Amino acid sequence: MKIEQATFVISNTDYKKCPQPDKPEYAFIGRSNVGKSSLINMLTGKSTLAKTSQKPGKTQLINHFLINDSWYLVDLPGYGWAQASKADKEKWTQMTRTYLRHRENLLCVFVLIDSRHEAQNVDLEFMQWLGESQIPFAIIFTKADKQSKTRTVQNVEAIQTKMLEFWEELPVSFTTSAVSNEGKEEILSYISSLNET
Ligand code: GDP
Repeated sequence: MKIEQATFVISNTDYKKCPQPDKPEYAFIGRSNVGKSSLINMLTGKSTLAKTSQKPGKTQLINHFLINDSWYLVDLPGYGWAQASKADKEKWTQMTRTYLRHRENLLCVFVLIDSRHEAQNVDLEFMQWLGESQIPFAIIFTKADKQSKTRTVQNVEAIQTKMLEFWEELPVSFTTSAVSNEGKEEILSYISSLNET
């Protein structure tokens, strides 16, 4: 799939105010600073569509983008930032979980994980919750260009081994780099295939 058109539609904190659920939808989520905005910009070919930031936990909104007039890409606020207050964390949990549970046109949640680090509890617990809630998801291992290919493969395998302590099988996964565009075609093809089902 080639993305010809990517336009911002609406940001809000309430899933009920999201656009009509009349098109397939894909959400992107992960720890703050994981490279979510960079990945969204890489996928859409628009360098400023999602706001990249060095400041963790900045976006606290559900952001809808309409792609090729046929599906929605959703940028969800990042989790796991160290300085957030308990109240902010609860607000995040309430807002995103309510959206994820109720959004009937949501076909897949892409959970972003930094390919340089070991499995983090906050990621494992979030995926556990997705599984228990029967929300389909795939994993995107980000920032692959920051280390050697061998190292990336080793890290990804270590995270997957950890996951197999809790899961019988592994979700679909992708390895990406917003610098080299690695993984772009694979993710867009995956979305295309789900759009056609
Ligand atoms: P977000 O908070 O998850 O939206 O993360 P950003 O997209 O703002 O990225 C956080 C930092 O990581 C920024 O300095 C980006 O330039 C950098 N970054 C993101 N993706 C990549 C990548 O694939 N490769 C490299 N080398 N840097 C990246």
